[in-house]
Amino acid sequence: MPPIMTARAKRDAPDSTTAMIVRSVSRRARRAEVPDPASASGYAGVLQALPYPAALLSFTLGTIDILDLNEEFARFDEELGSTVPQLERRAGRHFDWRERATAMFTGQRTSDRFELEFQGRLGARVFSCSLSWVEGEDGPQSHLLFTATDRTSERKAESTLRKELMTDSLTALPNRIGFVEEIEHLVEAKADTPGKAGYAIIALDLIRFSRINESLGAMAGDELIITVARRVKSVLRAGDVLARIGGNEFAVFAHVGHGLSEVLQIAERVRKAFESPIRLSTYLINVEVALGCALAQEDDEDLENLLRQAQAAVKRAKQSGTLEVYRAHVLREALKRFTLENRLREAIEHGELSMVFQPLINLQTGLVKGFEALARWNDPVLGTVSPTDFIPVAEESGLIVPLGRWALCECVQTLADWDRRHGEKLPVMMNVNLSPVQMGRDNVPRAVEEALRYAGIDGSRLTIELTESALISDPDKTRQLLGALQAMNVTVAMDDFGTGFSNLASLQSLPIDILKIDRSFVTDMMGDKDKIAIVRAIISLAGALGMQTTAEGIERAEMADVLAGLGCHYGQGYYFAKPLPSLEAYRYWIDRSSATII
Ligand code: C2E
Ligand code: MG
Ligand code: MG
Repeated sequence: MPPIMTARAKRDAPDSTTAMIVRSVSRRARRAEVPDPASASGYAGVLQALPYPAALLSFTLGTIDILDLNEEFARFDEELGSTVPQLERRAGRHFDWRERATAMFTGQRTSDRFELEFQGRLGARVFSCSLSWVEGEDGPQSHLLFTATDRTSERKAESTLRKELMTDSLTALPNRIGFVEEIEHLVEAKADTPGKAGYAIIALDLIRFSRINESLGAMAGDELIITVARRVKSVLRAGDVLARIGGNEFAVFAHVGHGLSEVLQIAERVRKAFESPIRLSTYLINVEVALGCALAQEDDEDLENLLRQAQAAVKRAKQSGTLEVYRAHVLREALKRFTLENRLREAIEHGELSMVFQPLINLQTGLVKGFEALARWNDPVLGTVSPTDFIPVAEESGLIVPLGRWALCECVQTLADWDRRHGEKLPVMMNVNLSPVQMGRDNVPRAVEEALRYAGIDGSRLTIELTESALISDPDKTRQLLGALQAMNVTVAMDDFGTGFSNLASLQSLPIDILKIDRSFVTDMMGDKDKIAIVRAIISLAGALGMQTTAEGIERAEMADVLAGLGCHYGQGYYFAKPLPSLEAYRYWIDRSSATII
């Protein structure tokens, strides 16, 4: 730890003492009563009056002579003489004040201020020392005044304060500042070791900690944090450093000889430490942690930066549910997302999004059953942004709620436009996607009801496409929502079926009308027996559950034939049509229905 140079240390430099002695020496010289330099009693009055160690020195034949000294100095020098100064020893030099004075007398320095730290009888002692010239009968540089100011208690207070500033009071672990400082020392100490290992930071976030804090109170929250710290500590190795870097955030620094695999092992041990619940008075709490790690890429890695990288990885881990390793582009991605989010907000506010409509074809009759409404965004700055990029941003930022409401209104409004254009009700359905995030945040039945009422469209012409994640995140809420949609005669389709983890029991118990078989099974189904087997299984499962099926991603005629042969009801894909703007979609329906009739 570098010594802290306090403002007072500078201020206390005893210039005034030097001036006093200079005046005293020159007064005596003027009065021709300059004492014999060999006699130490000459300045006794002046030095004795000083409250800190002080001595007047001269230099003859390569040796320092003490011309005069006060009692404080005698005590100081005696105590110092019995020890080796710690500070100097640490710096690899065994100087003491005599050597510093010699350097001045031999012309290597003109003035000197330094700190002496040594182990005194009563513990560590710190003195702020100064050497300055005092004019004598041999000229302006004949004597040196040495003074030492005791800084021990100040330094102790500083070091206690410093420790406090760098320690988390709840867990007694280093906090973020303390962590970075400590690991900087560790890395520095290892820097010259041949064959040294690399190092990594693993960051850890307690998921839903604020909820525990809110429901059980701050005391329980504190207890939980302490227990978490203990658990993590118990699975770490001797040299690893654990810190609490934020309210519910911890970080582990580890030297790793075997790179990523070793980091993953440590992370796995940390994860396992939370497999059993934590007991807080009468409650058993299941603590979930998100883990992210970053490995140092270079020897002189900026450790603050490495910590930020580990935290960026944790942020991703919270979404993915698995351990994330920082990759260089993650931060760049975060930045891109930020721009994307800002632009998207403006686009929604200014009505710059548009809708396209992809036909859904009845595979048995070839008729258009309906259209799926898909959002499009062509930004003047960013260009065309795919929904696979902007929908996740909208979900993360909460913009999905206004976006989803707009999509609902827009698609039923389009249906109403087509009806008007056609002069009567078009016999087509309109499918719209509903994000699980919106299900959680918005009053979806109300939004659907309002959109339908405003456009004058019957609920039976609308299909809401949900993804499997909606079933998993909050099954009870989903049940309520589906019940409400059913009451409005709205059809419910399970989108991208086969890619999620929905269990069959919940699938069976919910009012779902259609399973949409994910494109990944359909697109390269031809010639892939496994995929055909999966598609066949989904179709028969749907049949058993009383549901219909739609195959996504039909790109070739033979796929449509095979799917129709397997009993799939509907199909959607580039083979029939890409998503089309409103008017083209309407014409597609006209063309196809007249062609089919003929
Ligand atoms: P999705 O709901 O599964 O929509 C089908 C996606 O597959 C669309 O991509 C469509 O263009 C594409 N597709 C259709 N046929 C084919 C084909 O034959 N081959 C290939 N390669 N692709 C085909 P898109 O429009 O890029 O939308 C991607 C996803 O974004 C959608 O997947 C949906 O989950 C989401 N999305 C789009 N619009 C909205 C919206 O308004 N609200 C919400 N919540 N999500 C939306
Ligand atoms: Mg869809
Ligand atoms: Mg889909």
